[in-house]
Amino acid sequence: MTAADLYPLYETEMKLQTYQFQRLNQLLLFTSNHNYFYKKKFRGIRLPVNGYDDLKKLPFTTKEELVEDQCQHSPYGRNHSYPLSSYVEYHQTSGTTGNPIRILDTKESWSWWSKCWQEVYRSSGVTDRDIIFIAFSFGPFIGFWAGYEGGKEKGCVVIPGGGQSSKERLTSILENKASVLLSTPSYALRLIETAKENNINLFSSAIKKIITAGEPGGSIPSVRAAIENGWGAKVFDHVGMTEIGAYGYSCSEQKGLHINESEFIAEVIHPETGSAVQEGERGELVLTNLGRYGYPLIRYRTGDIVIHSNKQCECGNYYQFLPNGIVGRKDDMVIIRGINIFPQSIESIIREFDDIKEFRIVYYTKDDMNQIKVQVEGKEEVIGDLKALLRERLGLRVELEVVEDYTLPRFEMKSRRVQDLRTS
Ligand SMILES: [Zn+2]
Repeated sequence: MTAADLYPLYETEMKLQTYQFQRLNQLLLFTSNHNYFYKKKFRGIRLPVNGYDDLKKLPFTTKEELVEDQCQHSPYGRNHSYPLSSYVEYHQTSGTTGNPIRILDTKESWSWWSKCWQEVYRSSGVTDRDIIFIAFSFGPFIGFWAGYEGGKEKGCVVIPGGGQSSKERLTSILENKASVLLSTPSYALRLIETAKENNINLFSSAIKKIITAGEPGGSIPSVRAAIENGWGAKVFDHVGMTEIGAYGYSCSEQKGLHINESEFIAEVIHPETGSAVQEGERGELVLTNLGRYGYPLIRYRTGDIVIHSNKQCECGNYYQFLPNGIVGRKDDMVIIRGINIFPQSIESIIREFDDIKEFRIVYYTKDDMNQIKVQVEGKEEVIGDLKALLRERLGLRVELEVVEDYTLPRFEMKSRRVQDLRTS
């Protein structure tokens, strides 16, 4: 049986969980026959999988496994279900935390990405009358490629803003009267800075909505406020991963992210024990994608830290809601003097200070103890207040250093505002 044979079965209305697990079983049936990675991994599993209790019996899939599989079966690994001739799209992970993973999509899998983006656009209120400008380098990183595809399918004019300077991008946004901007939160801020340097008034642009992705800033109130105040536009957050797909998006309430549960099954687990966490607790998000037969992932450990909640969002969307969005990355957590620190907790505090232009977090070791220092571009006057707020919110004394303006790096895609010099 092929995916094409299976799809027509979905066209009846049913309860979400019934729908999800029907699709999961079809996927499992498919992978057990056609996908060598899962054929081996799930040998002996009993179908059907009826609900979460059964699902928990399946092993997790980890990034390390995918990397290892790709090394052993170079160049693409065995999680591609079809022969190479079926594939048309190539992307790779950013590789900031190790070897990049090369991932291919078939036409069908790629149109599934576009379908997931329709949900992002719907939730942000984007219509076919919008003109979308994508400030993105259009390299091998998947980033906004799927947003580009989804925008075209929505019927929008989509402007690819790759290969341009920040000033050229701003000129294009103004001249083409773009109404929606897609960029990382860092880059939306960078464009505000560029506009100021060039005496460009962003409030005169037609941009009304900004969809951010690649970093969690769109769900951090202080970052979001800085972007909204600079652009006079409303910010929507989106989250996706090359490995798993475009799985989450924010809504008009701006209080967190929804998971697109028609295409993903979500679980929140304790990162150490692997068991489900309780309501209100933090845990690692585990996702299963239901419609990417060309590169399926079942119980994939995303490394995204979220708060598990059974509460529904006030916007009326009943899909699973993640309050405050992605609250951290498992890989980014650092323990300093016994306190767990996520860089984005620090960013959310720094962004409350308009006078701070850019910052960098430096971890280092002194007298066998790990320490933290924050370098900022900005006015001396605010340092005392910032220091006090960091201490109050993090429960930790943080060393601050003011550096010359424009000495810290600026970013187009995923920012790297952390310098790790720890030796122990
Ligand atoms: Zn909502």
